[in-house]
Amino acid sequence: MSNITVCVRFRPLSPKEKEADGGAICVQGLDSESFFFKAEKEEELAFCFDKVFYQDAEQADVFRYLAMPVVQDTLNGINGTIVTYGQTGAGKTYSMEGPSISESDGQKKGLLPRVVDNLFEHIKCSEETTKCTVKISMVEIYMEKVRDLFDLSKDNLQIKENRTQGIFLSGVTEVTILDPEEALRCLSRGISNRAVGETQMNMTSSRSHCVYTFLVQQESLKDDWSRTGKLVLVDLAGSEKVEKSGAEGRNLDEAKTINKSLSALGNVINALTTGKVNHIPYRDSKLTRILQDALGGNSRTALLCCCSPSSSNASESLSTIRFGTRTKRIKAPLRAPALPTQATPFQHRRSAYDGILEKLRK
Ligand code: ADP
Ligand code: MG
Repeated sequence: MSNITVCVRFRPLSPKEKEADGGAICVQGLDSESFFFKAEKEEELAFCFDKVFYQDAEQADVFRYLAMPVVQDTLNGINGTIVTYGQTGAGKTYSMEGPSISESDGQKKGLLPRVVDNLFEHIKCSEETTKCTVKISMVEIYMEKVRDLFDLSKDNLQIKENRTQGIFLSGVTEVTILDPEEALRCLSRGISNRAVGETQMNMTSSRSHCVYTFLVQQESLKDDWSRTGKLVLVDLAGSEKVEKSGAEGRNLDEAKTINKSLSALGNVINALTTGKVNHIPYRDSKLTRILQDALGGNSRTALLCCCSPSSSNASESLSTIRFGTRTKRIKAPLRAPALPTQATPFQHRRSAYDGILEKLRK
């Protein structure tokens, strides 16, 4: 059964949000796992997750809690997926890359450069006993087409499956990386290619999913073993609702395709976690099909639900949080029959506080 960690991250208010509603916020942190949330016209709700990161959370904390265990598992030959979910502007790319992929302020570095550092630290420590190869590929999924971000001429990659490789993208460019600096150069080339393609297709990055894959192959120099782990990081397209963006025509098609693939992702994770393993609907979208062997089987998944703390974005944030709770419920049967993250209304903040948390954590 798939093992999943779900965390929520609230970024700081943006300058624009500071002006809207006088900078009103819709979230009140209780502790590092739970918070109260007030959406417009809704009751105040209490939520509990594996971890909640508030506006002053360090990038290093997010990495340590969310990503490090997944990287460790990859090194042990267990596939892993790290996904950022949320409306456009909620902090997905900031969490994934940092302010930029080549950010020089070490504190602000995002998950990707930290994953790279962590992988190469491990390689260095074990180089006397293990030969390790890291290959990176980077693709973008837009309107159900998969584009190679290391070679823009490959703009419609096909997903295939075989016994030795599992799920793979036929013909995708895989770059063998020898050190962290090379990895970062490679990733920033992919990121700037993404921008080139966006201009060509008249699209913004918020409308496509970006998938970073690290294939880590290890071979013992002393004993007779070898193992391969695949680590996939996904910066998802914005989850905002169609109505809000007032989309029509092509934008509407885009929004529908995005909604379909995000629901497919939720459905797959849900099917995995509720143990309905007879039919897992991986084939419902390119995204879930690509992630098939990094989500299902012997794997570990970490989901970061990125939210604005502003009351002006409360309904989108609530829908992101609910995606997280739906995903998380998967795990519930393993621990308790119901609701580690189910929303619980409360009237009497003080007196209800302990009881609610106790219930949510069961
Ligand atoms: P998304 O990728 O979800 O559309 P971004 O990651 O691009 O959103 O974030 C939108 C803006 O908010 C960017 O200017 C980014 O620098 C800023 N931002 C997001 N998260 C944080 C954070 N945790 N701390 C500081 N600034 C942030
Ligand atoms: Mg983004």
